[in-house]
Amino acid sequence: MKAVRWHGAKDIRIEDVPEPPPLRPGELKLEILWTGICGSDLHEYNAGPIFIPVETPHPLSGLKAPVILGHEFSGKVVEVGEGVTKFKVGDRVAADACEVDWTCPACREGRYNRCDQLGFNGLHRNGSLTKYMNVWEYMCYKLPDEVSDEAGALVEAISCAVHAVRRGRILEGETVAVLGAGPIGLSCLQAARAAGARQVFVTELAAARKEFAKNLGATAVLDPTEVDVKKEIYDMTDGIGPDVTIEAIGTPATGKQAVELVKKGGTAVIMGIFEEPGPFHFNEVVFFEKQIVGSIAYAGEYPATIALLADGRIQADPMITGRITLDEIVEKGFDELNTNKERNIKIIVKSE
Ligand SMILES: [Zn+2]
Repeated sequence: MKAVRWHGAKDIRIEDVPEPPPLRPGELKLEILWTGICGSDLHEYNAGPIFIPVETPHPLSGLKAPVILGHEFSGKVVEVGEGVTKFKVGDRVAADACEVDWTCPACREGRYNRCDQLGFNGLHRNGSLTKYMNVWEYMCYKLPDEVSDEAGALVEAISCAVHAVRRGRILEGETVAVLGAGPIGLSCLQAARAAGARQVFVTELAAARKEFAKNLGATAVLDPTEVDVKKEIYDMTDGIGPDVTIEAIGTPATGKQAVELVKKGGTAVIMGIFEEPGPFHFNEVVFFEKQIVGSIAYAGEYPATIALLADGRIQADPMITGRITLDEIVEKGFDELNTNKERNIKIIVKSE
């Protein structure tokens, strides 16, 4: 079967690989429908390895590079392994990307996204940019008829946003600032609205992305190169500031800004992936009793995300800006995202 495999930075190959091995008890075989290209895939393409094991095989999957990329996907069950009870052939599913050990302290607390041996689809184990993939039953969630195959490919990314909103403990009637209007930032905007936030401000530099934020319900979209973001947001919140800020970019400047921007006693959620450390004055936290919380992936948010997509409170379709085939992955996927980042939100890939 055709597969998109990562061999090294700027070295992604479309290759013919064997179909997945026979199912183990508790596994499902999926025929992949659509896969979203994630920012982390782009990081691996541009500057990897970041997460992909190249020397020591991953302890759970036993795999190291080359690895089949792809962790945001929808699929159809084509075979069920021994002991599988929740799924049958023909079910459409979205799969949680986390393979975990269920035995470490984090897993036993129910926080499997912090697992000591966390193995992520498409990074630590073979992913979905191919035709067939084996996954564990515990990773899978059924997609209802209201959620299309295409929208199903965004469940993974949107779940990161739903998790971040929960990590920020956003309550109905609160005010929120989201830094960055990429796929994750736009999902956070929608998830914060779904949680009942009354105002959601978004900061963004790129013109096209500003439009997406406006269309998806931002109270105001602010460009830090044009206005004093803090002053504008404080003016619009009666001088109080947002209850919660969410950093969805991953630069030292915006990480710092997320903490400085949040109101006294507020919570800054940091979910961007940072390429470098940055200077930060901790008095900002001490003097104003602010909270900084990290947010990585998700821990059980798939059912909520699928329900929010099904009833329309979160919309996937407006965030899909490209539909391509496996053969087009480098030119119309990774290179397109690198050169035309601003006009793209989520490019999805059709398996064949
Ligand atoms: Zn664990």
